[in-house]
Amino acid sequence: MAKELILAKYGEMALKGLNRGTFEDILMKNLRRRLKKFGAFKLNRAQSTIYMEPLSEDIDLDEVLEHLQCVFGIAALCRACVCEKTMEDISAKAVPYLEEVLLGAKTFKVEAKRADKAFPLKSPEICAELGGILLDAYPHLSVDVRHPDVTVMVEIRDTHAFVHGANLKGAGGLPVGSSGKALLLLSGGIDSPVAGYRMARRGVHISAIHYVSPPYTSDRAQEKVEQLCQELTPYCGNIAFFCVPFTEIQEAIKKYCPEEYFTVIMRRLMMEIAQKIAAKDNCLALIAGESVGQVASQTMQAIACTDAVSRIPVFRPLIGSDKTEIVETARMIGTFETSTLPYEDCCTVFTPKHPKVRPSLEEVEKAQGKFDFTEMVNKAVEGTTMKVFELS
Ligand code: ATP
Ligand code: MG
Repeated sequence: MAKELILAKYGEMALKGLNRGTFEDILMKNLRRRLKKFGAFKLNRAQSTIYMEPLSEDIDLDEVLEHLQCVFGIAALCRACVCEKTMEDISAKAVPYLEEVLLGAKTFKVEAKRADKAFPLKSPEICAELGGILLDAYPHLSVDVRHPDVTVMVEIRDTHAFVHGANLKGAGGLPVGSSGKALLLLSGGIDSPVAGYRMARRGVHISAIHYVSPPYTSDRAQEKVEQLCQELTPYCGNIAFFCVPFTEIQEAIKKYCPEEYFTVIMRRLMMEIAQKIAAKDNCLALIAGESVGQVASQTMQAIACTDAVSRIPVFRPLIGSDKTEIVETARMIGTFETSTLPYEDCCTVFTPKHPKVRPSLEEVEKAQGKFDFTEMVNKAVEGTTMKVFELS
């Protein structure tokens, strides 16, 4: 059987200048970690591509490919057959290698990329020659250069040539870890897991923080959020999960502050705590899942009141997204089912009947000033527990 490997082509990273090497190193490290459970691979890189060569025969490359489709920093992926740099070897290997995919097709075309300009045939000549050989071997096929069922790629590179069928789409973005770390405020809802996914796609390593208010919220609610963390790991890598005891603070808000400001005060206190945890965990920013106008607490005025307490940036990657788009992404990444399990969030425990939709900072500060939360905030930070969810 011909030797096969996996090719992963960079996306945006290919455009990086001087520090491109750093991005490549991080991507290689992320890939190595991801491949470990499948067996031994040899990794190389050249010409905006990473070559992953399996070192044993029993590795299921399709399964590996499926997992690699979640790795950020990769634009396209394929399994490819390794050939000598001669048309004889390319043709001899391409015919049996492509059997399965070509038998399932009616039309095809060949595309050639000649990174090695010293190769004696030019790209159109490679296409014509291999196209002819494939037509002879599979007479049921015809060529369709516009809408072929299958595009066969021939790549002539430094040391070898590669033949493969169509590319699979990669996850895009930048490798996780290339943009530093940020702390995701993760509720059990649909939005915040998607917000975390979006920032991870920009190369941000994610930690997560979740606030619980037992006995108003159940263990099941917390387990649901932990499950969401686990479901994010194929994209985000390992996630440190911080769980904050929030009952006392919520009871104090209810007891001392005017009802119409409950939600915005609660958000501000969440932010206070999140910043302290972020500092301990080396996170440079917070991430939250709001989208303008989605609910009463997500008006620009309410967001302004929330952000007024944060001394580090608060990223809201969903701010301009419609709910339908967010739901679509949640389904695509596989968090939707878990997010829609019916357990209560601490936000819903003391929801005011008539929340102030457009609060001013002055009124909110006054409402919150009815009680000094400093000590309770510190206590909540001290009582915060941490566990790590590992890549699954
Ligand atoms: P989600 O679908 O993410 O729950 P939502 O539309 O329900 O969002 P809100 O309840 O207004 O929105 O919460 C806004 C944001 O505040 C959430 O996206 C999340 O980032 C954060 N948040 C809310 N509740 C919690 C919680 N219990 N723990 C951690 N973060 C929370
Ligand atoms: Mg919610």
